[in-house]
Amino acid sequence: MDSVECAVIGAGIVGLAIARALATAGREVVILETEDAIGTHTSSRNSEVIHAGLYYPKGSLKARACVAGRRRLYEYCASHGVPYRRCGKLIVATSDAQVAELDSILKKGTDNGVDDLVRITAAQAEQMEPALRCAGALHSPSTGIVDSHALMLAYLGDAEAAGAMLGLRSSLEKVFLRDGCFELHVKDASPVRCALLVNSAGLRAPSVARRIEGFPASRIPRELYAKGNYYSLAGRPPFSRLVYPVPEPGGLGVHLTLDLAGQARFGPDVEWVDRIDYRVDPRRSEGFYAAIRRYWPGLPEGALAPGYAGIRPKISGPTEPAADFLIQGPAAHGIPGLVNLFGIESPGLTASLALADDVAALFSRL
Ligand SMILES: Cc1cc2nc3c(=O)[nH]c(=O)nc-3n(C[C@H](O)[C@H](O)[C@H](O)COP(=O)(O)OP(=O)(O)OC[C@H]3O[C@@H](n4cnc5c(N)ncnc54)[C@H](O)[C@@H]3O)c2cc1C
Repeated sequence: MDSVECAVIGAGIVGLAIARALATAGREVVILETEDAIGTHTSSRNSEVIHAGLYYPKGSLKARACVAGRRRLYEYCASHGVPYRRCGKLIVATSDAQVAELDSILKKGTDNGVDDLVRITAAQAEQMEPALRCAGALHSPSTGIVDSHALMLAYLGDAEAAGAMLGLRSSLEKVFLRDGCFELHVKDASPVRCALLVNSAGLRAPSVARRIEGFPASRIPRELYAKGNYYSLAGRPPFSRLVYPVPEPGGLGVHLTLDLAGQARFGPDVEWVDRIDYRVDPRRSEGFYAAIRRYWPGLPEGALAPGYAGIRPKISGPTEPAADFLIQGPAAHGIPGLVNLFGIESPGLTASLALADDVAALFSRL
């Protein structure tokens, strides 16, 4: 039977970052991916925003990994030729009642170590973005955008240069524990043995954990899905920065993001679903027009077209407080050599390099 030191399940942005960290630390790595290409799920169905780290509770893994990951990501993009732009963003209150919310985001961000946030008046915000209407705003200069596919290719390139191998069309079906190693059963392939196993299967991470023989069921979180739909804007947007309303339950609100070509898209909204289906229902456009016109009253009728959708891998339900990222190592589940990543929703792209370091550090202690 073939054997390898480490196997990473999932070639999304986080799995690739982990494979890169392990391979560049000298480990022998194979990445197993169900699909026939890297990053076809959540990692290519998001806003491609490099988040500053404003929204997450102080001391949470999301807060720490976002702030550390953002700094590392800007350096990485600059040194690896990955297209990005530090365009900044405005978080806007769309009513007087929301203005206090800006102060609480400012405090959360400052507590998390985001040191460049500026509270600005409605007039200042409207001077920066003349099409905008708001009751007050927060300016985050260190928010940016990145080409997520170029980033994934760069992570994969680093990992492969350090000897890692990528297996596409390689769906992990079952894992048996044999003599202190993992025996991986992959669809239509011979079994492979490994000593270290990383479950970075995104939306399917809880399902993958269920396929590991002897894994304690009590340690597997629920597999919950909150879909985020996007609409694209026809024509050039009258904005040069990202514009976010104050957050809504389950997500960050229907915001305006720009891609590196300057095109605008709006989203994601929050739609709790029970299956992976990325089709965008055109009937949701009414809610989008209403949400966007709260900060951009001039949005022309007929300018929005259904775009794409992504699905947040949630481990807490719609009425519960948002769960933190969960990196679960042997101390939590009792199986040496195994790390599971659960609930890696936003800001997972921003945090990817920091999360990868955390996983590599867990293995360095084994
Ligand atoms: C709507 C939305 C907007 C977002 N916006 C942002 C943003 O602007 N900025 C930001 O920082 N973050 C954002 N995020 C979060 C970010 O996209 C995710 O945190 C990140 O992409 C997660 O990457 P991943 O590698 O964990 O998961 P994925 O990209 O889902 O990769 C998991 C991979 O595992 C594979 N897999 C599953 N089961 C198996 C199996 N049995 N065997 C082999 N392979 C398997 C899948 O095919 C998949 O390719 C957003 C997320 C959503 C949903």
